[in-house]
Amino acid sequence: MRLSRYFLPVLKETPAEAQIVSHRLMLRAGMIKQASAGIYSWLPLGYKVLRNIENIVHEEQVRAGHIPMLMPTLQSAELWKESGRYDAYGPEMLRIRDRHGRDMLYGPTNEELITDIFRSHVGSYKDLPLTLYHIQWKFRDEIRPRFGVMRGREFLMKDGYNFDLTKEDALHAYNRHLVSYLRTYERMGLQAIPMRADSGPIGGDDTHEFLVLAETGESEVFYDSEITDLKFGDRAIDYDNVDQCQAVLEEFTSRYARTDETHDEAEFAKVPAERRRTARGIEVGQIFYFGTKYSDAMGATVADAEGNRVPVHMGSHGIGVSRLLGAIIEASHDDNGIIWPEGVTPFHCGIVNLKQGEDEADAACDALYASLTALGLKPLYDDRNERAGGKFATMDLIGLPWRITVGPRGLKNGVVELTSRRTGESEELPPKQAIARIAAIYGKASA
Ligand code: ATP
Ligand code: MG
Repeated sequence: MRLSRYFLPVLKETPAEAQIVSHRLMLRAGMIKQASAGIYSWLPLGYKVLRNIENIVHEEQVRAGHIPMLMPTLQSAELWKESGRYDAYGPEMLRIRDRHGRDMLYGPTNEELITDIFRSHVGSYKDLPLTLYHIQWKFRDEIRPRFGVMRGREFLMKDGYNFDLTKEDALHAYNRHLVSYLRTYERMGLQAIPMRADSGPIGGDDTHEFLVLAETGESEVFYDSEITDLKFGDRAIDYDNVDQCQAVLEEFTSRYARTDETHDEAEFAKVPAERRRTARGIEVGQIFYFGTKYSDAMGATVADAEGNRVPVHMGSHGIGVSRLLGAIIEASHDDNGIIWPEGVTPFHCGIVNLKQGEDEADAACDALYASLTALGLKPLYDDRNERAGGKFATMDLIGLPWRITVGPRGLKNGVVELTSRRTGESEELPPKQAIARIAAIYGKASA
């Protein structure tokens, strides 16, 4: 993309309404615009990152054997009356009446809808296990929407639902989700710690929340510092293997890590004093096992091997896709702007032309752009007639992890400058080598 042809409405001033750094930077970098309280338009740069995050979530869900689908945002109140949650959910649910006087709602979550789909089409234990998920907009009429996309009213969530014959199978689904979530967040450059949590209005027995440590987090958390040394990495895992998933669960959840809702001072005191940590965290996901709560209420049963109708065991699992943009920025920025992890960056690298309009510099930038694009990479080429300082400030603000700077002085010596956004370190290299380096970073083969 050439910046002169893109739509990147960066702001010079720091918006007064934004209280936390991620909200400020998303507004300044022209990623979002508030449409009304807690509801945002996703401008092109923000939209790109949102899609990248969504893609990682999809890839990791499919890898774990889960099946993508799509349910609507607007739901009939009927199913919610059946489950008993129409009254129980309270004022966070946006209730709507259509022209025929029918009660509708903008879904805050989808347990009812998915259970109805299940009971309409699945009748035998032979169709289990089954895990369906979708990535769809949710609406919760939060009393205090704030911090930009972090606590919106309309927000994008991945929500998945598992159906299993036995409690044992459903607990394997729970463990499988925990493992797949660890991989998902790490691919986004985040450390999200699974913590024992409280189930709230979803209801249920077992639940873990995934928290990203950040000063601006809304949750107070308590944990054993050893937990922050754990890395999932690129270990191979067979998601059908019960023992493997169980082993990962134990590795990542055996140390003390809880939100304030489940915090227990006496248990915490057993952690050696030098490892006890109290901090703030951003909730980026949650997994639940809730047994037969919805299948009992809504008659979701299957025939077991003996032909008896038995209620299915279920769980649900959510990832805050739009909230993740805020969480990643909270975890990765400096005074000059965002620092995108390579896994989610909107463009793979920036190209800054220091002498726009000068034949040699223009030709070198065009050649770089063409070579990177041919490798399947997406560079952002700042081809505006701006001063170098302004171009650098924009690149720093929008946070592309790598920048190639092209100027007449370097070109005389046959080199361009490759700069890491994270470390600020620069290196002079022939253009071919700079391309090879970027290609290697993103796992693309270069000639
Ligand atoms: P919270 O406690 O933050 O209100 P929750 O526990 O009610 O969230 P879940 O039902 O677990 O939320 O939803 C799954 C994920 O969706 C959460 O982990 C969070 O990342 C995200 N999420 C929930 N509410 C919002 C919101 N208002 N804005 C953006 N993301 C949200
Ligand atoms: Mg939650």
